[in-house]
Amino acid sequence: MFAFMLTAIRASDGVKVIGEFTDKDPAASYHCEKCENPVIHHRSEARLRVGHFAHKAGASFCPSDGETLEHVQTKLDIYEYIRKGWGGKLRVVEPEAWICKRTIRPDVYVETPKGSRIAIEVQASALTVDEIIRRTRKYHVEGVHVLWVLPFQFRRFFERFYEMAWRKGHSIEQHYDDSWIRKEKVKLLGYEQFIYWAYLKKLVLWDLEHKHSEGFVVIELSQHVGEPTSYFTSGGEEHYHEGRKSKTFKAVDRVVGNVRFDQLRTHVFHDDFSMKFLPYSIPARHIMNFDPTKWKGLTGVMYPPLPQRP
Ligand SMILES: [Zn+2]
Repeated sequence: MFAFMLTAIRASDGVKVIGEFTDKDPAASYHCEKCENPVIHHRSEARLRVGHFAHKAGASFCPSDGETLEHVQTKLDIYEYIRKGWGGKLRVVEPEAWICKRTIRPDVYVETPKGSRIAIEVQASALTVDEIIRRTRKYHVEGVHVLWVLPFQFRRFFERFYEMAWRKGHSIEQHYDDSWIRKEKVKLLGYEQFIYWAYLKKLVLWDLEHKHSEGFVVIELSQHVGEPTSYFTSGGEEHYHEGRKSKTFKAVDRVVGNVRFDQLRTHVFHDDFSMKFLPYSIPARHIMNFDPTKWKGLTGVMYPPLPQRP
C-alpha cells in the first residue's frame, strides 16, 4: 500500500508544509490533511528520494493512499515549474490545495489574475475511469478548469527506425538507421481513452526526468485505421476491404515537448457527448488544454531534437 504525500500539517503552528522543502526535525510532529492521522516526515540528506510524508504503519483508511512516490514527485515538479515561471503573476499556486469548501483537493491548484481557476491532476494509474469522470464533473459544476496530466514515457511513443522496418518485414541490413521515429500507433489505457476524447484527441504529459522536455509534452493522436486489404475471388473479382478503425489503438500524429504553462488555454464545453463504443459519455466540462493555434512551427517534431543515443 502506497501512502506518500507531498504536504502535511505541522502540529506546532498548523501550517501546511512541503516535505521536500522542510528540514528534518525530530521534535516536530505532523498530521495528514485528509484523515488527520499522524504522519512521518521522510527526507534524507542524500536526497535519494523526494522528501515526503507517509502514514504510520497500520493507520486507518486514508484517501491519500494509493499515491506513488512518482506521483508525489511529479506534482512537486509541476508545482515548482509553475511557481518559478509564473508564481509572481498568479493569484494562487498551491500544491494539494483543498478547494470548493474542502470537497476536492487537486494536486496543484492555480488561480490566474483574471480569476480563472485551474486544477492540475496527475494521473499515474491510481484512479479509475469512473473516478476521473466524477472529478471532471465536479470541477465543471464548480467552474474549475481541470488539466489531467499523464506521465511521459518516451519509449511508449517513439521507436527506432530499424525496429519499425523489422516489424514490417524489411531486412535490417537494407534499412539500418538508428534514428528515433514516432510510433505509428500506441495502445491507450482506459483512462487515457477518456482523456483523449475529453481533450479533443490530445494528451498532456509530464517528463519527470526532463530528458526530453522541460515543460509539458503535448501529444496529438487520431483514430488508427488498420491497413486496407484486397483479394481476388476464385472468379477473378477484386474485393477491397477498408481498414478498420480501432478503439484502443491511436495513431501518433504529433509529439511536442517544452510546451510552456502559458501555452495552455482554458476551454468550456457545455454539452456532453457519447460514442457508440464507449461505456460512458464524455461529460460537459471545464478543461485546460493545449492552445491549437500554437502548433505553428512545431509540426510533427519532438522538440528539442531527440538525443542520438538513449
Ligand atoms: Zn491521511
